Amino acid sequence: MVNGLKDLVRNSSNFGPHIHKLFPGQCVLCNCVSQPLLDMCQPCEMSLPDIGHHCQTCALPISDALDTHCGVCLQSLPPYSRTEACWIYEAPVAQLIAGYKYHRRLSYGITLAKIASIKFASAYIQTKKPDFITATPLHWKRHLYRGFNQCDVLTQYFSQQLQVPIFTHIKRSKPTKKQLLLPAEERQVNLKDVFSIGKSDAIAGKLIAVVDDVMTTGATAKSISQTFLDAGAREVHILVLARTPR
Ligand SMILES: [Zn+2]
Ligand SMILES: [Zn+2]
Repeated sequence: MVNGLKDLVRNSSNFGPHIHKLFPGQCVLCNCVSQPLLDMCQPCEMSLPDIGHHCQTCALPISDALDTHCGVCLQSLPPYSRTEACWIYEAPVAQLIAGYKYHRRLSYGITLAKIASIKFASAYIQTKKPDFITATPLHWKRHLYRGFNQCDVLTQYFSQQLQVPIFTHIKRSKPTKKQLLLPAEERQVNLKDVFSIGKSDAIAGKLIAVVDDVMTTGATAKSISQTFLDAGAREVHILVLARTPR
C-alpha cells in the first residue's frame, strides 16, 4: 500500500485498533514497530523531553519545585492566564516539529498532536475546559508559501480529544517578520495589532484556548491573547507542543 494511503487508513478513527495488526506502523524516531494508532514506539515516547516542573502561567521550566511562577511572570503577568506545554523544545521534539512544519512530514505533527491531546485532556479534568479552541493563524502570504498552517492539524486533534469546538474567525491581518530572527525586545513591537477577530459576539465572556506549535518568548501568545480579551473574551489559555527554556 502506498505510504500516503497507509497513513490515511492508520490515522482514521473509523478503522479501530485492529488496523495496526494489518498495517503495523513505524516509529517516526527509530523506525521500529510503533504502538497501535500512534507512529511512535513506547520507549521513544517515554524518552521525549517532558516539560517537568514549570511556571503555571507561561510554562517556563523552573528548577525550584516550591515555586509556582517564573521570575518574569512574578514581575508582570501576561494577558493569558495559563499555558499547557508538553515538552521542552529540544531534540528530538524540535526536529519532529521542524520536519512537520517546514518539510510537511504530516505524520510527525499528527504523532505529537495525538500524544499532546491526551495530556491536555487530562490537564483539564479538574478545571473548567475552554469554551473554544483556536489555531494561531498565519498571514495569508506565509500560509500560501508554506502550503498549510501547522497549527490547524494540532487544533483539530485537541478539539476532538477535549470535545471543545473550534473558533475560526481570527486572522493575522499584518505580515510580520519571522519572530526567531528578531531580538526579544523587538518581538512584541513586531506583533502589535497583527491579529483581528470577526464574530466577536460568539466569544464574549468565554474562555479561549489558543494553539501554537512552540512558545519561545511568548510574544505571539501575548499579542493574540490581548486581541481576544479586547474583543470581549473572559480568559485565554495557551496550548503548545513545546516550550523553549529561556
Ligand atoms: Zn521508537
Ligand atoms: Zn512564567
